[in-house]
Amino acid sequence: MNRFLDEAQVGAALSWGRLIPELERALISFSAGLVTQPVRTILNVSSHGKRFGIMPAVYGNVVGAKLVTVFDGNTTLQLPTHQAIIQLFDARTGTPLATMDGRLITEMRTAAVSAIATRLLSNADARVLAVLGSGVQARSHIHAIRLVRNIEEIRIWSRTREHAERLANEVGGHAMSAEQAVEGADIVVAVTAAREPILYGRWLKPGAHVNAVGAVGPSVRELDDEAMANIVVVESREAALKESGDILLSHAFIESELGELLAGTKQIHPSQTTIYKSLGIAVEDLAAAKVVWSAVSL
Ligand code: NDP
Repeated sequence: MNRFLDEAQVGAALSWGRLIPELERALISFSAGLVTQPVRTILNVSSHGKRFGIMPAVYGNVVGAKLVTVFDGNTTLQLPTHQAIIQLFDARTGTPLATMDGRLITEMRTAAVSAIATRLLSNADARVLAVLGSGVQARSHIHAIRLVRNIEEIRIWSRTREHAERLANEVGGHAMSAEQAVEGADIVVAVTAAREPILYGRWLKPGAHVNAVGAVGPSVRELDDEAMANIVVVESREAALKESGDILLSHAFIESELGELLAGTKQIHPSQTTIYKSLGIAVEDLAAAKVVWSAVSL
C-alpha cells in the first residue's frame, strides 16, 4: 500500500552519512547512461516568480518523480520558496511505494551534491568558506561543506544585510560585502535568487572552488563571464545546456560531469579554479527518496 511520509518522517530517516554515498552512486549511474531521465519540464504559474517543475526518472529499482513549486514571493508569507513532493514506484511491478514530502530532500540533496563537488574539486587544506546568500540553501551548504573540509572561517554576504548577520551569528561567521567575502576564500558558495551576476571572476583567488547553486533557468545568472571562464563541472551536460544561464550566456565550456569525475573517467586537479554549476536533477531526488524509503521499510 502506498505510504505518505511527511517532512518530520523524512527528516528522521535521512542522514547526511547515508545520503552522500547514495548520491555519488546516482551521479555515477547517470553519467554512465544507466538512468532514464529527461530534462525537467518547468511551467510558469500565473505570474513572474512562480514556477512548477516536473522531474521524472527511472533509476535502478525505482521509478518516480519530484513535483516542485518555486514561488519566490513566499518569503513574505512565511512559507518556504521551494516546496515539493516525491512519488516512488517499484520498478519491477509499477506499484506505488510512497509519496513523501520533498522540501527537506531538496534542501539536503542540493547541499550534499555540492559537498561531493567540493571534496572532488577544492584543495584538501581549504579553510575559508564564503557564502553569498542567507536562505535555506545557504544554511544547508554550510553544514554539508563542513562535513568534507575543515572550515575555520565563514564569510557571509546577503542582499539584506540583516539576514547575513543573522546567519553569521548562527554559524559563527562574519557578515561582509560580497567582494570582501570572496577575496582569498578557498571555497565559495553562490546560493541566491539573483537574476544578474553577484559573483565576479576577478574576485576569485587562483585555485578557489565555487559551488554555483542559484540561477536555475536559461536567462538568469549569478556568475559573470570571467568566473565562468574557469573549469566548469555540471551534473548533466544535457540539462546544463538547456537550463543554465550562467553557462549559456557566457558560452562556457563544460569540462566534465560530476559522475565522470567520481567514476575516474575524467580528472581535474584541485589546484585549478573550478566552478560546479548546480541545477539539481531528478535522479538526486530519487536517490535521496530511496534512502528514506529503505530506512522506513526496515
Ligand atoms: P531562499 O528563498 O531560502 O533564499 C533566497 C536567497 O536569495 C536569500 O539569501 C535572498 O537574500 C537571496 N536573494 C533573493 N533575491 C535576490 C536578488 N535579486 N539578488 C541577490 N540575492 C537575492 O532560497 P533557497 O536558499 O532555497 O535557494 C537559493 C537559490 O538556489 C534559488 O535561486 C533556488 O532556486 C536555487 N536552488 C537550486 C537548487 C539546485 O539544485 N541547484 C535547489 C534548490 C534551490 P536576502 O534574504 O538577503 O534578501
